[in-house]
Amino acid sequence: MPQYDTIISGGTIVDGTRMPRFRADLGIRGGRITAVGNLDRSEAARVIDAGGLYVAPGFIDLHTHYDAQLFWDPSCSISSWHGVTSVVIGNCGFGFAPCHPKDRDRAMLTMTRTEAIPYECMKAGIPWDWETFPQFLDSLERRPKGVNVLPYVPLTPLITYVMGLEAAKTRKPTDAETEEMCRLLDEAMDAGAGGWSAQRLHPSGGNCVQRDFDGTPMVTDLMHNDTALALARVLRKRNAGFIQMVLSTSDPRADIHHLEELAEVSGRPIIFQALRSTDSRPDAHHMTIKWLDRCYERGLRIYPQAIITDAGLTFDLAQDLNIFDDSEAWCEAMLGNVEDKLHKLGDPGRRPALRARPPQTATDFWDIIISDVKDPAHKHLEGLTLGNAGEKLGKHYVDAMLDLAVAERLRTEFFAPAHNTRLDLQTEVAKYPWAIPGVSDGGAHTKFLTAGVYPTEYLINFVREGRAMSLEEAHWKLSALPAYAAGFTDRGLLRPGYAADVVIYDYEGLKLLPQEIARDMPANEWRRVRRAQGYRYIMVNGDLTFVDGKPTGSEPGRLLRHGAAQDGLA
Ligand SMILES: [Zn+2]
Repeated sequence: MPQYDTIISGGTIVDGTRMPRFRADLGIRGGRITAVGNLDRSEAARVIDAGGLYVAPGFIDLHTHYDAQLFWDPSCSISSWHGVTSVVIGNCGFGFAPCHPKDRDRAMLTMTRTEAIPYECMKAGIPWDWETFPQFLDSLERRPKGVNVLPYVPLTPLITYVMGLEAAKTRKPTDAETEEMCRLLDEAMDAGAGGWSAQRLHPSGGNCVQRDFDGTPMVTDLMHNDTALALARVLRKRNAGFIQMVLSTSDPRADIHHLEELAEVSGRPIIFQALRSTDSRPDAHHMTIKWLDRCYERGLRIYPQAIITDAGLTFDLAQDLNIFDDSEAWCEAMLGNVEDKLHKLGDPGRRPALRARPPQTATDFWDIIISDVKDPAHKHLEGLTLGNAGEKLGKHYVDAMLDLAVAERLRTEFFAPAHNTRLDLQTEVAKYPWAIPGVSDGGAHTKFLTAGVYPTEYLINFVREGRAMSLEEAHWKLSALPAYAAGFTDRGLLRPGYAADVVIYDYEGLKLLPQEIARDMPANEWRRVRRAQGYRYIMVNGDLTFVDGKPTGSEPGRLLRHGAAQDGLA
C-alpha cells in the first residue's frame, strides 16, 4: 500500500504562515497533509505534477449566504471556482433554522429581498427536513458538499422562533423569552455552531439597505441591545464561538460602542462588516482603521472583513431588489410584483419623493449607467449615465431612468459602478494588517452581484499587478487569517496535520473572465456568474474538486462542527 494517497510534486509552496515560499512536495493521506519536503522516493496512489505552479492553502470565505444554494449546488459556486474550499454560512443573522414548519414560507420570502435569493429557487431547492438548529446541522451533514461548511446561528430565525415575527419586531423579549433564546443558542453551540450573527443597521431608514420582504427592517436591526448582550454572555460562559455583525461605521448613528461592549462581555472575537474605501470620501476608511487600532490597544478582538472587490451591480427594476432600500420612497415603490412596480414607478404623483433623495446604491445615482436597452428606439441612450441621459432629454435624471424603464416594462438593464473603484484606496484597505478579504455574499444577490471573485481579484490586483504586498502576505490573508478569526482549528495552512485543502495555480496565467448569465438554478431561474482561469487543481480534504476549471464530480466537503470535521478525518 503506498505511503500517500496523493503527492503534489515539485510545486512552489506558499504555506499561509507568511514564511518565504519554497520548492517542495506535499504528501497527503486520509484527507490531511502528512508530509512537506522532498518525497521523490515515496510511493503515492496519485502524483500531481505542480512544476511551475504555486501550491497554497484553499481560501476561506467568511461571509456567504449559501444557506439555500448549497442544497442545489453543493459546490457553492461561484466561490469554489475561485479557489474557495471552506465557507461560513448563516451570516448577517439570516438563515433557515430554527424555524417552525408553519413559518417556512415567510422565512424564504424574507430572503428574497434582504439577500435577493429568488423565491422559486428556494421553494424548489430547500428540503426543509428540520425544525431546530441541531436538526438543520444534521441535514447539512447528510448532504454531499463540494466545500467545507462552518455555520453560524443566525439571530433572525432564532428570535422569530421564540417570539413570533410580529412580536420580534415590535417589543423587547420577556426574561423568559430571552432565557429560551439563550438555551437554544447553547443547544446549537453544543451541536457545533461556530457562534452567532446579526445585521445591526439603523432601523429608521438611513442606512437600512437590507430589509425584510415587506420593506420593514430585519428582526436583528430592531433587536434590543440587552438581547445581544445576553447572547454574548452565552459565548463567554462557554468560552467558545464568535460573533459576526454588520454595522455601518459611516452612519453616525451606528452603535460602535455596543460592538465594543459585545466584545468585552463575550470575551470572544467579533467579525465585523465592513471595512471599505469610498471614492468620494478618501478618508472614510482611515477613521474605521483608527477605531480598530484603539480596540486592539484595549484588548478587544474585533476583526474587520474588507470589501476590496469592485462590486458593481448589474440590475433591472423588474427584479427583487434591495439596493434602493436606504430611501423610504424607493423602498415602498419597489415592493410588489412587476405590475405593482410599473404602476408605482410610472405614477407622476410619486416622482417628487423619488427625485428628492435618490438612493445611494453602489454609486451616486447620477452615475448609474444605462447598460442595455430593450427597445431600438432607445438605443441613443445606451451607455450614458443617468446624469447625461437626463441632460440630453431635458429632464431630471431620476425621471430619465424611470420613464425609460417603465416604457420597457422594467426590462432596461442598468449598471451601478461600485463606491470603491479607486484602486489606490482599495490598496490601503487591503494592506491594513488585520483586514480579512471577503464579503463575497456568495449565494445572495445572484442576479446582480459576483463578488465571489474576490480571491482571484486580490491576487491579481494587490500582488501580481499592484505589487502592494507579497504573495506570502496575500495567502496568509486569504486563508490563515480568516481561519484564525473564525475558529477553524485545522485549516488555513499547508502544514503536517492540517486538512488538505489546496489550491494549485498558474500565477502568471491567473485571469478573471467576463460576467455571464448562467441558467443553472432550480425552477429555471438564472444568475450572473464570473469564472477564472489559472487554477489548475483545487483540492478539498485531499480530493480534487476542480481540474482546469472543470468539476470532477467529487464532493469531499465536510460540515465543520466546533470548527473542524468531528470524526478525526479531514
Ligand atoms: Zn451578508
